[in-house]
Amino acid sequence: MIVELISVGTEILLGNIVNTNAAYLSEKCAQLGLSLYYQTVVGDNPDRLEETLKLALERSDIVILGGGLGPTKDDLTKEAAARVLGKKLVEDPRSREMIQKFFDTRGIKEITDNNWKQALVPEGAIVVDNDNGTAPGLILEEGEKTLILLPGPPGEMKPMFEKDIFPYLNQKQPEIIVSEMIKICGMGESRVETMIADLIEKQTNPTIATYAKIGEVHLRLTAKAADEAAARKLMKPVIRELKVRFGGSIYTTNEKMTLEESVVQLLKEQDLTLTTVESCTGGLFTGRLVNVQGASEVLKQGFITYSNKAKRKLIGVKKLTLKEFGAVSDKTAKEMAKGAILTTGSDVAVSITGIAGPDGGTKEKPVGLVYIAVSVKGNMRVEEYHFTGNRMKIRESAVVAALTLLRTSILETIKF
Ligand code: ATP
Repeated sequence: MIVELISVGTEILLGNIVNTNAAYLSEKCAQLGLSLYYQTVVGDNPDRLEETLKLALERSDIVILGGGLGPTKDDLTKEAAARVLGKKLVEDPRSREMIQKFFDTRGIKEITDNNWKQALVPEGAIVVDNDNGTAPGLILEEGEKTLILLPGPPGEMKPMFEKDIFPYLNQKQPEIIVSEMIKICGMGESRVETMIADLIEKQTNPTIATYAKIGEVHLRLTAKAADEAAARKLMKPVIRELKVRFGGSIYTTNEKMTLEESVVQLLKEQDLTLTTVESCTGGLFTGRLVNVQGASEVLKQGFITYSNKAKRKLIGVKKLTLKEFGAVSDKTAKEMAKGAILTTGSDVAVSITGIAGPDGGTKEKPVGLVYIAVSVKGNMRVEEYHFTGNRMKIRESAVVAALTLLRTSILETIKF
């Protein structure tokens, strides 16, 4: 089935906002096995929008329109769709009710008239609830063609797509698409690809796609079959093979789980408390952990020891160590972790010290050099890393490496 995407908004044409919705929807269409042949951006202009819509309906089976559903005058997507399909706009009582509810829950008493415009829908439209805003989504089925209208704000569009539009599009196809995610940490993309080159070469159904992230590689397996059970059966042997090849480097097969969530979960399962000591990452590592709901159950304390004085005073790194080996050294990283354990009495400590640049590098200690130490129940491990990129990329790479090293160190400690 051919699908086409139309993003509506002059601000996208002017470059005021980046069309992130298009990137998201394109990825989802690929996951659904739909062929996305065209993408257009059109400004808030009724004639050009109608022209674009007519052309899209001639050449595609499904047309997804994003944006321009709101209450203001320049929001004209619904009107254009109604005109092109020759439909009248009628008030949808449920949408009116939802708009009323949206304002009631926010304690807003005076609802301006233009908001009720959002309850008008083209006759015969399937109305899709917007749980995060007032403009509902709309599905218009016209013979063989389908038109889907989505709100512009990503915070409204994405949850609506996940909840209602994705399943709707999935059931429209004769074959359903099921995908599984395998998330790997501690390996680069080229290494991962080399390890599965044979599988990628002979892939047909399921297919394997690799996505490189900072310090992580995600593999998406996608299978097509008559029903979900058959699709899962096709994926099963490939998943088993991937688990054999990547073993403990796979931190999750849960699409939604992040690396930090898997680490917090592991600490919880093992009943371990953690203290962090950061230099070059300046709290970025602790911040990633705190993003995880329930992190307070495991995280005792975080130190940002940016200066040598702080390293000495707060966590007892020896003056001599700093003088002889420098702040960026394996010895200092170890003493930072050890000091954290002594100071807080936690079971686990992670320390990070490095040169994020752009200044401060030398021939012996170049920008990107980072030492990470992890101590788990008295077992100390320290690793040296050489990251590339700008200051932010180096710091983010250090954070992911620290999460990975923490995870591996805990798993190794459990094993013995
Ligand atoms: P609203 O009810 O907010 O008016 P709408 O459906 O009319 O919603 P627009 O007015 O087109 O949507 O866009 C509202 C906001 O949503 C934009 O200012 C922008 O921040 C965001 N947005 C719209 N389209 C996109 C897009 N394609 N990619 C990313 N963000 C977008």
